Amino acid sequence: MRVYVAIVLFLVSASTYASSTCFGSTSAGRLENACRMPSWGANYKSYSSVLWLAGRTYLHCDAQAVVVDAYASLAQNYPSYQFVYGETGNQYGGRFKPHKTHQNGLSVDFMVPVKNSEGESVPLPTHAFNRYGYDIEFTLAGEYKDLELDYEAMAEHLLAIKKAAAARGVGIWRVLFDPKMQSALKQTKAWSQIADLNFSKKRSWVRHDDHYHIDFVLPCKQL
Ligand SMILES: [Zn+2]
Repeated sequence: MRVYVAIVLFLVSASTYASSTCFGSTSAGRLENACRMPSWGANYKSYSSVLWLAGRTYLHCDAQAVVVDAYASLAQNYPSYQFVYGETGNQYGGRFKPHKTHQNGLSVDFMVPVKNSEGESVPLPTHAFNRYGYDIEFTLAGEYKDLELDYEAMAEHLLAIKKAAAARGVGIWRVLFDPKMQSALKQTKAWSQIADLNFSKKRSWVRHDDHYHIDFVLPCKQL
């Protein structure tokens, strides 16, 4: 019995306290002992079960814990909000086409939360025909077909990530989101609490209208 308990404790601690090592930077790096995002949770799911299986949702375990914690707090405080996350990285980091970053386990793409015409939070439809959400084009007013970008849910998500990161001692380097759409984010209830995040000032090589990209900060070794 004692042996059994010891084995169970070992397994629990091994999964709970797995520690990753990141190397280099988000644009030239690699990763050891990565964690994979859960495929889904109470209020979220991956952008593609096929690409999840293909191994495109690995990240640094500390960053993974922040992302999962944030979803858990949103499930408690805003249970109606539905979220979809996008690409994170390979199991061992490194080049992650077509992204220029996502190389050392600290980059995460989040597909934008949306509301349907009834005002209900629904997952962004992501599938092979819209390149798993990345080909979706939102208008500057935040509209796509009969869906509307839910800025309130997005702001609460960013706030939840900020709090979860602070609780775990993980930094947030930057948030990439179309600068032309940030004015709507500034009208949200949570804005005053997330205004200090480092939002992109310039448009990057992709538009970042269908997803926002976060780079976390953790100590990494030299590549
Ligand atoms: Zn990205």
